[in-house]
Amino acid sequence: MEDEIYLNKPDELFAAIENGKKNGKIMVVQIAPAVRVSIGEEFGRAPGEDLTHKTVGLLQALGFDHVMDTPLGADVNIYEETLEVLHALERDDEKYFPVFNSCCIGWRLYCKNKHPELYRLVSPIASPHMIAGSIGKHVLAKKLGVPVEKICMVSIMPCVLKKYETRERLPSGIKYIDYVLTTHELGMWAKKKGLDINRVRDGKFTALLPDSSKDGVIFGATGGITEALLSTLACICGESPEKVRFRGDEQVKHLCVQIGKHQLNVVSIYGVTNLDKVLDEIKHGVKYHFVEVMNCPYGCVGGPGQPLPASEEKYRARAHGLRKAADRKQGKCPLGKMGVHSIYEALGIGPGSREAQELFFFHKTNI
Ligand code: SF4
Repeated sequence: MEDEIYLNKPDELFAAIENGKKNGKIMVVQIAPAVRVSIGEEFGRAPGEDLTHKTVGLLQALGFDHVMDTPLGADVNIYEETLEVLHALERDDEKYFPVFNSCCIGWRLYCKNKHPELYRLVSPIASPHMIAGSIGKHVLAKKLGVPVEKICMVSIMPCVLKKYETRERLPSGIKYIDYVLTTHELGMWAKKKGLDINRVRDGKFTALLPDSSKDGVIFGATGGITEALLSTLACICGESPEKVRFRGDEQVKHLCVQIGKHQLNVVSIYGVTNLDKVLDEIKHGVKYHFVEVMNCPYGCVGGPGQPLPASEEKYRARAHGLRKAADRKQGKCPLGKMGVHSIYEALGIGPGSREAQELFFFHKTNI
């Protein structure tokens, strides 16, 4: 089936991916932030342990030609989203606020069905793995000198719902992503092939794409998107991106901060039902500039595609492990390093441009 999403059919999904390679496709895979601190649980390791390089090694052992990091897509997502918020701040018109994040598909579906009046405020920017898919197809195709259609893009995600995003297409008709496997499915597939993450060699992300920032990695834990947005805004305003930290595991978390000439009031929520508390505050006159809503406990680290059984302790350990993994990287925000700039440069487009919208925004969404 053309838009097959392989729910409850993991064997067919593994076979489809293996067939891609047999059919001459260049197989590219990306790893979501939350996966690196949870895949180990499938192989007896502790939740929260950062196994980034082991996960890359495992995917290389499974036959992928290139492994890339979803946080690179998160870097582009937050750069475009910060430009959108900045534009709204400069217009100083209440009708543009609050801006809601778009990267959580669970939240987008909830908003569309339960609060359709708010949907116009949800950012139009595609989710990080879709952007990474677009980068993987367009930038790698250029660098490898092959047509975009030759690249097959696979995402390893903590989220079952992300499988629906394989239905989304760019204006050119190309899919951002061809297949999505959950963290648990990656564990199943590796075991079927006799692979154990404890025994594979460390691998390296493809050298054809730049490394991501710390902010791209913290996307996977609650508050990460908001921190990334604020530190990117600080960077644009000529301030240190390090001045902003928005850590902590509270279900509803507030911050009021001055960046450049802008006073921002932001809130992050996990568990969509907590949104009602924030909507109630808005009704009573509280003004927010940015609202981050993540469907799952502690953010994507608590996603439904993660290893089972789930527990509060595991969510917390993964969130803390992910923030530590981020802090070991160089470069706080996407603009603090050459990474994101080199993506725009390779594509010959500008940030916030119409061409960037074509490659990095949702188009006629199918969900
Ligand atoms: S928070 Fe949950 S539903 Fe939302 S994108 Fe992450 S894993 Fe998916």
